[in-house]
Amino acid sequence: MWFFSEEHRMLQNSVRQFSTQELTPCIEKLDHEEGFNREAFFKMGELGLLGITIPEEEGGAGLDAVSATLVMEEMGAVDASTTLSYLAHSILCVNQIGKNGTSEQKKKYLPKLLSGEWIGGMGMSEPDAGSDALAMKTKAIRQEGHYLLNGSKTWITNGPVGDVFYCYARTGEKKSDISTFLIDRDMPGFSTGKKFSKMGMRASPTGELVFANCRLPETQRVGQEGKSIKMMMQNLDLERITISGISLGIARASIEVATKYAKERMAFGKPIGAFQQIQERLTEASAWYEACRSLTYQAAKLWDLGLMNDKDASMMAAKAKLQSAQMGTQVALDAIQILGGYGYTREFPVERYMRDAKLIEIGAGTNEILRIIIARQMLGADVVG
Ligand SMILES: Cc1cc2nc3c(=O)[nH]c(=O)nc-3n(C[C@H](O)[C@H](O)[C@H](O)COP(=O)(O)OP(=O)(O)OC[C@H]3O[C@@H](n4cnc5c(N)ncnc54)[C@H](O)[C@@H]3O)c2cc1C
Repeated sequence: MWFFSEEHRMLQNSVRQFSTQELTPCIEKLDHEEGFNREAFFKMGELGLLGITIPEEEGGAGLDAVSATLVMEEMGAVDASTTLSYLAHSILCVNQIGKNGTSEQKKKYLPKLLSGEWIGGMGMSEPDAGSDALAMKTKAIRQEGHYLLNGSKTWITNGPVGDVFYCYARTGEKKSDISTFLIDRDMPGFSTGKKFSKMGMRASPTGELVFANCRLPETQRVGQEGKSIKMMMQNLDLERITISGISLGIARASIEVATKYAKERMAFGKPIGAFQQIQERLTEASAWYEACRSLTYQAAKLWDLGLMNDKDASMMAAKAKLQSAQMGTQVALDAIQILGGYGYTREFPVERYMRDAKLIEIGAGTNEILRIIIARQMLGADVVG
């Protein structure tokens, strides 16, 4: 990308090296067994990746959204699952504490989250409130000096392994009365529920969070009571830009495997890459990947420059993720087709790429919800609803 700085390129190289050394050897086994690469988080801590957007004076790397997206692309090309867990930790939890937490909260949480001693996650979705997140039912009732939290969250990345969760709950009757709370794993009344067995992203543990009269000191609330929606939506935009990087990584890896195979695999006396239909799949995949890469890094750069108002930022983030996510799945499917029978087996990683890529069309806003966000901005809420 033309605007990548020397610092961006150095980061890209070091994350590429880290991914090859630390993630490549483990991912097939972890994917098969639905494990979790806990060790990788300590190494990411040493590299300064866990607090990528946290200012240097607070112990972070002080880097921008372009950098965070680059990390997602490089790690995502090797191991999309661990990258998803990294995203939940660094963008959905750590970045939010850094941006919205009090100095006491930062002092309590950031050092351990940045070193990898603690794993973080974010709880917004509920069994009856996914796309319609503001329909959440988890309630926090204020009592003298503390809150009593009841309800549950579901589909939470790092739920089964996390130590700290940045969670949203209702604190009033209006749909917009949403507040944020920091939940520690060992708080009385808090537990983690079921761990889900998934089709893809299998090395990123996903589970439920359960609150049964969970007693929280008021000091665990982040920001003003009932005023969390703006912070939640802004973080969703950053999540959509950075998660697009994982789709880019998966697509790039798929294209690399398929191109190599098309040069080596012989059929009818020729390498299959000599056939026009194989060329069409490869060239379309490569062009779509480049288009999505430009769109995603442009969205990240505009985010960093602060040149967009909230609505435009949401639309750009939605466009980047809508296209990148669909591209990631389709390109992985194309790679499977190019590899024929081998593509359908565990002999090659492309079947994993496809299973992982599909999640990005669902998490952080489904394709359908992203189209609504874009349509609202183009046509107006009075037309779209
Ligand atoms: C592996 C994984 C990890 C996740 N990690 C997290 C996490 O860390 N934290 C968190 O809070 N959440 C997380 N999620 C939840 C994720 O954000 C939700 O799954 C997603 O928002 C969709 O919600 P839902 O699954 O309830 O689907 P629903 O909202 O029930 O949607 C079902 C279908 O209906 C469609 N639909 C819904 N409304 C409309 C509409 N108005 N118009 C057209 N179509 C519509 C949807 O697009 C979808 O196709 C994760 C999910 C998964 C699978």
